[in-house]
Amino acid sequence: MSASQTVSYRHVGKCVYCPNPRGLRLTTEHIIPEKLGGKEVLYAASCDDCREKTQKIESHVLSQMLDGARAYLGLRGQKRGAPQRGHAYVRDAENNPRAISIDPAEAPIGAILPHWGPPTILMKPGATWPGRPSLKLYGSETKLAEWMSVYGSYVSGKLRPELFVQMLAKIAHCCTIDAVGIDAFEPYLPPIILGDMSTAPRLIGCHKFEPAQKPGNAYRIEQRSIEIFNVEYFLVIIRLFTYWETPTYWVIAGHPKGPPSPRAFGPLPPRSPES
Ligand SMILES: [Zn+2]
Repeated sequence: MSASQTVSYRHVGKCVYCPNPRGLRLTTEHIIPEKLGGKEVLYAASCDDCREKTQKIESHVLSQMLDGARAYLGLRGQKRGAPQRGHAYVRDAENNPRAISIDPAEAPIGAILPHWGPPTILMKPGATWPGRPSLKLYGSETKLAEWMSVYGSYVSGKLRPELFVQMLAKIAHCCTIDAVGIDAFEPYLPPIILGDMSTAPRLIGCHKFEPAQKPGNAYRIEQRSIEIFNVEYFLVIIRLFTYWETPTYWVIAGHPKGPPSPRAFGPLPPRSPES
């Protein structure tokens, strides 16, 4: 058992995203978005500016891209009582998108997840970004067939895969702080979380698709040290909505500070809403 399992690093006392000085007003930060069922938090961990930025990321991703999937799991509308309605789009006779108000649980598409190549840090030097992410749709074929018989078309809402990548970065960054403490590693992800995507292809990618699990979970996260070309890094493996055949996202969160491997860890017990 590693030290990280017996020591809590959850009271941070400075913004985990930016170099704002200690002493600013700091708020509690969910390690995994509450809307995915995450309950664990880092205390005194985000300044107001960063909180505003990260909330924009999560609200787009969770409401536009993962709304239906959350509805499948009953994760929607828990706080505000009645589930809210969402929108799906179809094409009208002139081929223009037309919005239809729906209950997200009835959406033919549950989740829209981007996938692309593995993080280029895993590849030989000189390897390049494998291009723009593709989007894969997950949902019920029966519902989609019913939908098509009624409306004849389905158009997804506005999707911004880069915000999804930023959300992965935020989850991995917070999980790593929780595991080893903010002072134990050189973090790579805060610039991505705050909008500079230049290092994203190097650090974040899809490793492979995993078979569906029944029953599934909203998320399953594994953490371990990984050695790449003789350098040690902290790796966070994130899979969302495991009841579909979804991609595993690999995120390199940083490297340990100080002497080699004082904080190295083998696989930690996976995180999921039940853990
Ligand atoms: Zn900040």
